[in-house]
Amino acid sequence: MKIEFRKVPQSPKEFTAEYSSVKFEGTFCKISPSLVKIQGHLIGNLTLTCSRCGIEDTVTLDEKSDFLLSDGIYKSDSDEDELVLEIENGTIDFDEILQSEIASIQSDYHICASCEDCDFVEKEY
Ligand SMILES: [Zn+2]
Repeated sequence: MKIEFRKVPQSPKEFTAEYSSVKFEGTFCKISPSLVKIQGHLIGNLTLTCSRCGIEDTVTLDEKSDFLLSDGIYKSDSDEDELVLEIENGTIDFDEILQSEIASIQSDYHICASCEDCDFVEKEY
């Protein structure tokens, strides 16, 4: 699903995107002439490679993903550390956003359940 940045309404509108077995859905709306707010939810199964033993592990995703999209280079005028993605060509491509979200999750450090069990760390409850 794609939408031109300038056509994004100020009232929240729904979007959905799907890539492999992960779904990304939620709402988006314009909060300033050059900023769009995304309130999304990632749901599905993702195959991650264990950073320790290298086996492939399937994890279930069910997490919120909220961030801002900037039309071109983002210039922050506040000290807040906001998550802002810069988009190119004035077009928001939700499929592309989802693919980069997945890529960043896959590049994170991941430990499979059996490696976790091998850790002799006291678990806090
Ligand atoms: Zn492992």
